[in-house]
Amino acid sequence: MRTFHAGFEPGHPPVRVCLGAGVRAGIGAEVVALGLSRALVLTTPQQAAQGEAVCAQLGALAHGLFSRAAMHTPVEITEAAVEAARGADCIVAIGGGSTIGLGKAIALRTDLPQIVLPTTYAGSEATPVLGQTANGVKETLRSPKVQPEVILYDPELVATLPVGLTVTSGLNAMAHAVEALYARDANPLSDQLALGGLRAFREGLPRVVADPGNLAARESTQFGSWLCGTVLGAVGMALHHKLCHTLGGSFDLPHAETHAVLLPHSAAYNAGAAARELAPVAELFGGSVGGGLYDFAAALGAPLALRDLGLAKADLDRAADLAVKNPYWNPRPVERGAIRALLQRAWEGARPQ
Ligand code: NAD
Repeated sequence: MRTFHAGFEPGHPPVRVCLGAGVRAGIGAEVVALGLSRALVLTTPQQAAQGEAVCAQLGALAHGLFSRAAMHTPVEITEAAVEAARGADCIVAIGGGSTIGLGKAIALRTDLPQIVLPTTYAGSEATPVLGQTANGVKETLRSPKVQPEVILYDPELVATLPVGLTVTSGLNAMAHAVEALYARDANPLSDQLALGGLRAFREGLPRVVADPGNLAARESTQFGSWLCGTVLGAVGMALHHKLCHTLGGSFDLPHAETHAVLLPHSAAYNAGAAARELAPVAELFGGSVGGGLYDFAAALGAPLALRDLGLAKADLDRAADLAVKNPYWNPRPVERGAIRALLQRAWEGARPQ
C-alpha cells in the first residue's frame, strides 16, 4: 500500500451517479431535481434516434435535439450548439466522448448543468477536462465548469455499442487506470480507483464479447468505466496518453483503436521504471505487464498493429519526433530512440516482452 504521511486531496468533484439497467427512465426526474425544465439533448448524427427517444421521454422538459456532435469537439459546431441552447436551462448528452465533449464545451461557455448518459467506456463524463479543436489545433483545458453534474450509466445504452468498439473503448478506459497507477501525483485513493477499474474490465469485458447483450456484464464494464474515468480526472497521465494524442492529432488515427494498440507497448516501456506500481497489472493479466495486456487484447479480437489503423511506415520517424516534443512527465525518461523502437513494434503488432 502507498503511504500518505504528507496527506493528499482526492480532488473528486461532487457528482451524482446512477448505474443500472433502466436508469435512463429517471432522466426527467433528474432534470426536475436540479430545479430545471428545458433540456437541450445532444447526440452525434449516428445516434440521433437515441436522442429522439430521450426527447420523447422528457416530453415537455425537452427544449430540443442537437445531433451534430463530432470527434475532437470542433469550435464551429460548439458555436452552433450554443445557439441551439438559447432558452435551454440544462444539457442532456447521450453518447460517447465526442457528444459528452460537446456538452462540456457548451457548459464552459454558458455554465448550463449537464446530465450525461454515456454509451461508450471512454470516461469523459467523469472528468473536469475538455479537449476542443479550433483551426485544426486541439487544446485541452481543465475547469470545474465542464464537469457534468449527473451521470446515468444504463447498460441497455452501451449494449448497442458494436463489439469492435466495445473492446477498443474498454481498453481506452483501462489505459487511464494503467497510467494512473504510476502517475506522479498518484495517491491511495487513485490506486484503488485504478485497480477497481482494471478488475471490472478484466472480469467483464470477456463476458461482454462472448455475449454483447449480457446486461450484468455490461454493468460491470460500466462500473469499470466510471472508476477509470474518475481516476483520469484525478491524476496526471503520462507517455501512453501523449503517444495517443500525437497519433490522433497529427495522423488522424481513430481514438479508441489507437489506445487499444498502444497500451501494451507503453505499459511495457514503463514496466521496469514502475515495476512496483505495475505489479498488480502483471498479476491481473498474467505474465509480464506488456505481454499480459497484449494477450488480453488479442483474445478479445482487438486491433494489434498501428499499420492496420492506417499509419504509414514512413510516418514513424515523424511520429517519434513529435512524441518526444514537450513530453508529459513519465516514470521512465522519454528517449527518442526507445520511443521510435516502441512505435516500430506497435506498428508491426509485435507482442511486447
Ligand atoms: P465517440 O464519442 O467519438 O463515438 C464513436 C462513434 O460511436 C460515434 O459515431 C458514436 O455516435 C458511436 N457510438 C457511441 N456509442 C454508441 C452506442 N452505444 N451504439 C452505437 N454507436 C455508438 O467515441 P469515444 O471513444 O467515446 O470518444 C472519443 C472522444 O472523446 C475523443 O475526442 C477523446 O479525446 C474524447 N475523450 C475526452 C475525455 C475527457 O476527459 N475530456 C476522456 C475520454 C475521451
